[in-house]
Amino acid sequence: MPTPRRRDGTALVSTSVAGDSRHSDRAERAAVAALADSFVAGLCDWIRIPGIGVDPAHRGDVRRSAEWLADELRRDGWPQVEIWDDGPALPAVFACWPANDPDAPTVVVYGHHDVQPVDPLDRWEHPPFEPVISEDEIRGRGASDDKGQVAMHLLAVKAHLAATNQNAPSVTLKLFVEGEEESGSPHLRKLLDDHENQLACDLVVFTDTALHERDAPTVNTGQRGVLGAEITFDGGTDDVHSGRAGGAIPNPATALAKLVAALHDDDHRIRLEGFYDDVREPSAQEREDYAALPFDEQDWLKRNGGGAQVTLGEPGYSTFERLWVRPTAEVNGISAGYTGPGFKTIIPARAVAKISFRLVPDQHPDKVKLQLERFVAEHTPDGITASVAIRGEGVPPYAISPDDPANAAVHEAMKLAFDQHVRFARAGGSGPAAVLQQRLGVPLVYLGATLPDDRVHAPNERVVVPLLLKGAEAAAHLWRMLAQAEIAKRLSR
Ligand SMILES: [Zn+2]
Repeated sequence: MPTPRRRDGTALVSTSVAGDSRHSDRAERAAVAALADSFVAGLCDWIRIPGIGVDPAHRGDVRRSAEWLADELRRDGWPQVEIWDDGPALPAVFACWPANDPDAPTVVVYGHHDVQPVDPLDRWEHPPFEPVISEDEIRGRGASDDKGQVAMHLLAVKAHLAATNQNAPSVTLKLFVEGEEESGSPHLRKLLDDHENQLACDLVVFTDTALHERDAPTVNTGQRGVLGAEITFDGGTDDVHSGRAGGAIPNPATALAKLVAALHDDDHRIRLEGFYDDVREPSAQEREDYAALPFDEQDWLKRNGGGAQVTLGEPGYSTFERLWVRPTAEVNGISAGYTGPGFKTIIPARAVAKISFRLVPDQHPDKVKLQLERFVAEHTPDGITASVAIRGEGVPPYAISPDDPANAAVHEAMKLAFDQHVRFARAGGSGPAAVLQQRLGVPLVYLGATLPDDRVHAPNERVVVPLLLKGAEAAAHLWRMLAQAEIAKRLSR
């Protein structure tokens, strides 16, 4: 494919060397810049493959997406490249490039290549799988989540080798790119167990996270966990006439509404007994960093609040703290009785509420499940039969200290690449970080360079190319830095 160009015909990415090339730590920047055009072309090729993981009609495309990545890795010189396609899991890609020094640390880079569905299709300004370059963005499904960031790491390795003039990376690199993250990674635990030896490492670099803002680069240090539950209150087997029986039998809708109302106290704290016992407070440094991030309530509401008019939450915590380091209980849906046109004077037989909890370190989904079951039992009145159905196993939360040596190295690498103050932040959403960290038994750090408003999972997904290039530069710095004696020793302890 021809070199991607802006509409005015100029090259999207300048290949001139930015920064001061007299400093050796600028060699990575120069190497990234020299490879930028082919990076953009390659990423566009990959986006053309519609690997929608959740749609069985696209199974073949998910496989083609894995094959594209494997071919690209082989072309880049990765000596071991495999597609794992032997089990119930959608095809995952694994690659390993050993360092020349057998004592160098081993790093697993985690990402995913499956993409979200594209509907509503009529809201896209361009066909989702025909990538378009506009200003400094690539638009298309998967540009940001997560093909852009996986491609960023491929670029980083090439830049690292060029900048250090080596034929192998400074640390042993392993790439693990799964094919069903957008389906909730249902077979991730099995993949990790089946390939335990191949994935053995000293550190995981998780690459499916965003910067705080374009002008406020951040290193992510954690994600919340999640537990979903459906609570059903049954009063009887049939809806009954509210004149014949009303006032004389229990109403499951009223009883369930009382339970839902009892979930929070007036200070928005969750009233499950023991719920906060394991909640780890953020460090003073983390709170200071969160407070220093740009925040405008109205602007934030407009971009994130779905039309909400105010922010609210636990007293004593900022909006970012409420999102990142405090747990939640939210009613996702509630239904009972008749809600169709007109009126139907009944007492419903059944009421249902779907509730989800976002969890923070060191809460555990199993423990919260028991706390919820006890809470439901205590709030079930006489004459109502309650049941609680938990969705899957839940996702445990994860966080790493900003002071962790590997995390400090990521921070330093980001500072070098962005030429800017880099703060620590976290993510309010959930992902497989804790599962990776627990199964592989090593620390996990985050390195991402996308933006929260990249419209991931939505129409018109985009990625900002200069940020991906900075992310690639940061990763290239990181591989060099992790091999430095002191960090390497602490990592492989
Ligand atoms: Zn993702």
